[in-house]
Amino acid sequence: MKCPYCDSESIVFRGYRYNDRTKKRLRLCKKCGRKFTLHDGYWRMRFSRKDIMKAVSLYEKGFSLAEAKKHLERYEGIKVSRWTILCWYNKYGSGKRKE
Ligand SMILES: [Zn+2]
Repeated sequence: MKCPYCDSESIVFRGYRYNDRTKKRLRLCKKCGRKFTLHDGYWRMRFSRKDIMKAVSLYEKGFSLAEAKKHLERYEGIKVSRWTILCWYNKYGSGKRKE
């Protein structure tokens, strides 16, 4: 497990954070001192809306998932799995993908 801000692995468990309905494990990074929760918050911190829309638009333009992944890595510096791109597309895409 790594800190989403600085990639340090010195993470300590700092109890729980309560939302309306959910309980999340709160972690503290000993290196940069920031607190974060995993799962929910994690990906949102790593990828901006702009990154996500870039990935989705590549896929919509007719790139395959593998091609979109490669392109994002090479030209945008975004490391993402094919599965993640597909998830983003299902969530944010227009549903009008060119075949
Ligand atoms: Zn950190």
